[in-house]
Amino acid sequence: MALTVTGATLDGETVGLRCEEGRIEAIGPEVVARLGDEKIDASGAPLVAPLLNGHTHAAMTLFRGSGGDLPLMPWLQERIWPVEAKLEEEDVYWGARLACAEMTRTGTTRFWDMYWHPEATARAVADAGLRATIGAPLFDADGDAEGMRETALRSLDRLAGLGPTVAPALAPHSIYTVSEESLRWIAALGAERRVPIQIHLAETEQEVADCIAAHGLRPAAYLDGLGMLSERTVLAHGVWLDRDELELIAERGCTVVTNPVANMKLAVGGVFPYPAASDAGVAVGLASDGAGSNDSLDLLSDLKLFALAQKHAAADPTAITAAEAWAVATGARAPLLGAGEPLSPGAAADFLLLAPGTPELGIGELASNLVYAAAGSVVDTTVVGGRVLMRDGEIPGLDEIVARAAERAHRLGL
Ligand SMILES: [Zn+2]
Repeated sequence: MALTVTGATLDGETVGLRCEEGRIEAIGPEVVARLGDEKIDASGAPLVAPLLNGHTHAAMTLFRGSGGDLPLMPWLQERIWPVEAKLEEEDVYWGARLACAEMTRTGTTRFWDMYWHPEATARAVADAGLRATIGAPLFDADGDAEGMRETALRSLDRLAGLGPTVAPALAPHSIYTVSEESLRWIAALGAERRVPIQIHLAETEQEVADCIAAHGLRPAAYLDGLGMLSERTVLAHGVWLDRDELELIAERGCTVVTNPVANMKLAVGGVFPYPAASDAGVAVGLASDGAGSNDSLDLLSDLKLFALAQKHAAADPTAITAAEAWAVATGARAPLLGAGEPLSPGAAADFLLLAPGTPELGIGELASNLVYAAAGSVVDTTVVGGRVLMRDGEIPGLDEIVARAAERAHRLGL
């Protein structure tokens, strides 16, 4: 069925938007609904591109509110890993459905995920109507490199057949939980299958010190020596990357995804050097990380923290502009992440309508208000592939999703 939106505001102009077969068929002041179209009267609602969350662990919504004040390693070792050992597919499915509902509500329509039972996350994404690139977390710190390889191959095969809205990736957890030999193997597999590789990198200063002690190289140079840095590589965090590493990353065409709120909550002691990364020509995206370490998936809220942290760290209010921060949050500065094309005929029909008359957006420039004044609550309607996932702030079936996720968290003792 076709969808027609009328009366929306785009760049100061009142426009209509007609979607057919998942794509924008027409956009402009003259667009009107045709007989049989689903219609949205969006009078006065700003029409904007959706946000793109470049790194998360969706089902970790189940861990929200647990162990929130611990340092990274005790948090992982005492609170996260013992519970994750008990996870079942249905836990991950409902945790991911909860994450998808929260993302739909706050304007994120595509995300990159790294979590156990990735097929369950893929099912949740398909049922929720969102888009995602998903990888099984790969570890061999337990000495089982063979088991890790089986997991990698099996997950690629299973995720490949799950429809057009889910793309498979390889997701080695980090340089401190995957051996040199296994990282080399994963890099070769990624090249052979032409799939993206996402990995946590340079999150803490300790990780950098340990990498230098073990390999005589900083993290990015170490990964490069293993063949891991390419135009298909997404590096999550990058807080402690130095200038030489940023230049290397830019040269290899990798993407860095910054997670400012998770970094602040885990108190990693630094800020991703966005101005230096931008100068070097690195592709950059924005992300929340998992709800276990954020604890919200509201990327519009994180966007403010991203911009403010950059200004604060640089002691320079011009370190990043609102328009630039908005471009990062929508995936426009990192093509690999898969943001749709600008809203125009032929582009995927993925967009947001913001609440008309909302106090945060009524006065001043929209980009500035979106970055500094708004949170996800300003999103009124979320559309993906021409399908309305939320209208007037209402997501069908939300009560059941919240209840089922809470049941699964309770089962896990969370
Ligand atoms: Zn993460």
